[in-house]
Amino acid sequence: MASSFLTGLGEGTVRDLVGREDWLPRGDYPSLSRLLMGLANHTGPGEDLKRWRLSSNGVFSVKSFYSFLVDGGIRCPWTPVILKGSCPRKVNLINWLAWEDKILSLENLALRRCNLLPSTTCVMCHSNVESTNHLFLQCPVALHVWGFFGHLFDVRSNPSSMRDLWGNWRKNIKRPLSTFWDLLIRAITWNIWIERNARIFSSSCASNATIIVKIVHMLLMWLNAVPEAKRAKLEEPIKKIKKSLEFVATREVELNAPPEHISSTGEV
Ligand SMILES: [Zn+2]
Repeated sequence: MASSFLTGLGEGTVRDLVGREDWLPRGDYPSLSRLLMGLANHTGPGEDLKRWRLSSNGVFSVKSFYSFLVDGGIRCPWTPVILKGSCPRKVNLINWLAWEDKILSLENLALRRCNLLPSTTCVMCHSNVESTNHLFLQCPVALHVWGFFGHLFDVRSNPSSMRDLWGNWRKNIKRPLSTFWDLLIRAITWNIWIERNARIFSSSCASNATIIVKIVHMLLMWLNAVPEAKRAKLEEPIKKIKKSLEFVATREVELNAPPEHISSTGEV
């Protein structure tokens, strides 16, 4: 409609239109009348200027427009936080999908009528529906993993939901440890997802201790990708976690030792 208003005006400016009524559409348009009255009251003696609103100096630049286009799709403050972790993109993406409850959990697959398994029961604990929150936070396997790291770093409570995990729960992590936990959260979510997939697609089953060892190894691998400024904040927690690994590895050997290799006196 706007273009039909301007028929015959060519490259007319606002000043050209104020005071002219021949281009106005027929009918009652109170908001348009108010706008024109406002413009007439604010029209000074100078020339109209074209100003590009996306740059501070008002001059058009491709860079400012490109930034607008790239940023234009994201209006959620948490999405950039989750997607910009110092780890592989696929890990960030799984974490974002889990946070959004868009991950293909058995519950979500059933809701979409795409679940090819006979039920939606969690393959980790075989006792609850595999929802996103259950799989990553409430399943006994997940609780064991979160509990291990929580105990190690004196984080007393577990997150109640994926929203809580990236929201209030994450905010309560003490500052020197927040950089480390941002990576740890991602590693935990990723490894639980990988373990769940292994149980469904490969019929393999790792122990809780093995999952913890894998998480720690993953963190150590990511360390090199962390920007120099942040790496110093990770030194202490990484030292602590390495020490815990020795304990977990020993426990793992003990737990996996076949009973027949252990004599009645406890000798291996
Ligand atoms: Zn479960």
